[in-house]
Amino acid sequence: MRVTFYSLKSIISGELMIIEFNGTSMDLIPTKIVAVARNYRAHAQEMESPVPEKPTIFLKPPSSLVGDKSIVVLPKVSQRVDHEVELAVIMKTRCKNVSAEQAYQHIMGYTICIDVTARDIQAEAKKKGLSWTISKGFDTFAPTGPKIVSQDSIDPHNADIWLKINRNYKQQGNTRNMIFSVGELISYISEIMTLEPMDIIATGTPEGVGPLKDKDVIEAGIQGIGVLTVTAHQE
Ligand code: MG
Repeated sequence: MRVTFYSLKSIISGELMIIEFNGTSMDLIPTKIVAVARNYRAHAQEMESPVPEKPTIFLKPPSSLVGDKSIVVLPKVSQRVDHEVELAVIMKTRCKNVSAEQAYQHIMGYTICIDVTARDIQAEAKKKGLSWTISKGFDTFAPTGPKIVSQDSIDPHNADIWLKINRNYKQQGNTRNMIFSVGELISYISEIMTLEPMDIIATGTPEGVGPLKDKDVIEAGIQGIGVLTVTAHQE
């Protein structure tokens, strides 16, 4: 059985994103992708950023979603596009102002998301105090998949997480090193915005982020979920 992911872009263009979910078939249309910055100390350190006292969040548009075995386009306006492998939460039910404890009742399951980032554009945005959207929001910058697993298939706070480029490890971490737990993130985000069914939360990346180049084969894995594979394509 398959789950079908439709991004807003795919609805317009007729493209489909296919993802498996526990033997169930469904169309998944997130209203938003909420991403968390600096949720691992070692990554905050490698970015020379302070460890945050509360979650730092930003949005990626649904039009950045692509599925397993798809292409990540490296835009010609950037000279450096980085990979960031992240545990992604898929929401099941609408929630607002939930506690960290209540948050888990609202989760459908977990998958893998690569928070692709135009690092040079982000650095410029940081310097000028501008929004990160210009570096995080390009089409294809949120590969997601290969399947959603239910909450009992994974310990979201003790899962190995890794990313390889052309079969060489670039990122190797464990979600136990997240600063804010999944429940804490959902609680915090839901104070600001209503989370809707099928919304995606990318929970931050461990250390080891680095650049992609044309034709790189990127494999992103999380223990208990599987492996998401995409290929980079220079625009
Ligand atoms: Mg990230």
